[in-house]
Amino acid sequence: MSKIRRLCLVLGDQLSWDLASLQGLDPQRDAVLLVEVMEEASHVPHHPQKIALIFSAMRHFAEALKQRGIRVHYVSLDDPHNSGSVPGELRRWHSLLQPQQLHLTECGDCRLEQSLKDCRLTIQWHSDSRFLCTRGEFSSWAEGKKQLRMEFFYREMRRKSGLLLNGDRSPVGGAWNFDAENRKALPKGAIAPSPMRFSADAITQEVLALVAKNFSGHYGALNTFDYPVTHADAQALWDYFLDWGLAAFGDYQDAMASDEPFLFHARISAALNIGLLDLRQLCSDVEAAYWAQRIPLNAAEGFIRQLIGWREYVRGIYWLKMPEYADGNEFSNTRLLPEFYWTGETKMNCMRQAINQSLKHAYAHHIQRLMVTGNFALLAGIAPSQICEWYLAIYMDAFDWVELPNTLGMVMHADGGYMGSKPYCASGQYIKRMSDYCRGCAYKVSESTTDDACPFNALYWHFLIRHSDRLRSNHRMGMQYKNLDRMPESKQQALWQRGQLLLANLDNGESF
Ligand code: SF4
Repeated sequence: MSKIRRLCLVLGDQLSWDLASLQGLDPQRDAVLLVEVMEEASHVPHHPQKIALIFSAMRHFAEALKQRGIRVHYVSLDDPHNSGSVPGELRRWHSLLQPQQLHLTECGDCRLEQSLKDCRLTIQWHSDSRFLCTRGEFSSWAEGKKQLRMEFFYREMRRKSGLLLNGDRSPVGGAWNFDAENRKALPKGAIAPSPMRFSADAITQEVLALVAKNFSGHYGALNTFDYPVTHADAQALWDYFLDWGLAAFGDYQDAMASDEPFLFHARISAALNIGLLDLRQLCSDVEAAYWAQRIPLNAAEGFIRQLIGWREYVRGIYWLKMPEYADGNEFSNTRLLPEFYWTGETKMNCMRQAINQSLKHAYAHHIQRLMVTGNFALLAGIAPSQICEWYLAIYMDAFDWVELPNTLGMVMHADGGYMGSKPYCASGQYIKRMSDYCRGCAYKVSESTTDDACPFNALYWHFLIRHSDRLRSNHRMGMQYKNLDRMPESKQQALWQRGQLLLANLDNGESF
């Protein structure tokens, strides 16, 4: 094998043409390395569809690189020489090819990045320019702040990107954030667009067979796989959303409905996170749709806020605070994750709907994650590491940089309020308001202490009571504690007892 100048390792979530480490590639002298490894596919039990998505997208990207004349070395999972880890493969190929330089773009997981830094090879690292805010810029913004707030960071990103600004740099519409207009429940008779599906080509079929053979012990369906695995298909999914979903996304992004897993959501987060779509292009398309009066401002601003606000914010926190951030456990939770998170076998209809669609599609939208499965974990005092692992494993779009701060910080408030000002705890009333789940439930959302009462209700009050010392002084929790204090002592006692019983049942491994 002839010696090469530059070997670029491209990871499974770095499948972008404009990846920093791929710039300046010389097809005559350079090569690209892609590796499917067991360690990354199984350090948590990733949903089989997620593994299939990444392997298939990697194989398609490798073919596309070859078509552009680039030399590609591809290691499949079942290659008998496969060492099983990314650093192992990098060492092996370094020894085989003896390149003059190794190039790599920053990873999306500090565990992997550290293992590559520890592998005794000289690597030229590139900043991940696919994000709007570099790690260093975020660190400068956060410096000296005891608590961070997304809203202020988001304004910086709006100014930096120039998105939805007037000529005088003020926000279009007179406000930075139209979140209050993004919380409508779905009206009766509303019809969401049918989800766009992609059938498996020969490459994907081969990957599906590989995944079925090697990951049969992982939770989640494989036969419902219908995700885009190429840039062109991801673009088609995006165009479909622009035409049919975005206009209503603003109003109904928080709504939930039985047997409607996608509603007006784009379902592009996985494609974006692995590099099949480009953040700046998506934002520019959304802004253009607004200026062309195809969508209302609350849809445009709401979507752009998710991308350049929340998404960049959680990434910034991840790289600023890891690895210590992963140990956060503000409420000292120790409870194990109930088995029904992995099976969907529960009488709580909201949980059954959110979990079963997650198992079927490796997808749930942000409110199902935050206010149903996440809310339950928060109220029930699940250990943060347990619920973080579940989110990382089960969702197609979950990579450590995005999953960990969202779950540990936002869902579980386990960072003590560093990233969010209050815990997102809610009773069954919130779920009733935002969905039709309660109508099909074995429990009564109007009850709190009876045997058939909605478990979220007693658990919500139990959570407030048991963490009163910590949370009562939080001004954003004032109304919730006022409501608690207004209750007769006997009612508070009954709620506490019911909460105790539910938690004891969870500890005994009972589903409810
Ligand atoms: Fe969920 Fe409670 Fe409503 Fe049942 S009654 S769907 S458990 S919120």
